[in-house]
Amino acid sequence: MAPGRNIGELENKALEIVKKSGKKGVLQSELWKMLGLDSREGSRLVLRLVKKGLLSRTQVMVNGRKTYRLFYREKKEVAPKVVISAKSIIDIPCASCPYIDVCEVGGFYDPRQCPLLEAWIDSQIK
Ligand code: SF4
Repeated sequence: MAPGRNIGELENKALEIVKKSGKKGVLQSELWKMLGLDSREGSRLVLRLVKKGLLSRTQVMVNGRKTYRLFYREKKEVAPKVVISAKSIIDIPCASCPYIDVCEVGGFYDPRQCPLLEAWIDSQIK
């Protein structure tokens, strides 16, 4: 690795370069040159970023040789994971609600508008 630079800095610089290349992408050999890395160091860096899901690569032929074109991957928003265990279901307000027999969609007691049920669902998400 080039002296005076750590892996995190190199990864950030690589991501910045690939991101700027947009839809065109950048050949991995060009990236290595820009970062001052040899092919061994450059390959390792690219593989780390691919494994982290921050870059994608497509095999291409350049001057009769196989290489990779690199593309920046936008981080996707991940929906919160809701894990509802049997223990938590016991706490659902409907289980001890005196209105459960008359609670129905469109009724006076409506699960779609019940603040107790809404609060319980929020507590499960958090
Ligand atoms: S949704 Fe609300 S009103 Fe209906 S049974 Fe559950 S806690 Fe009771």
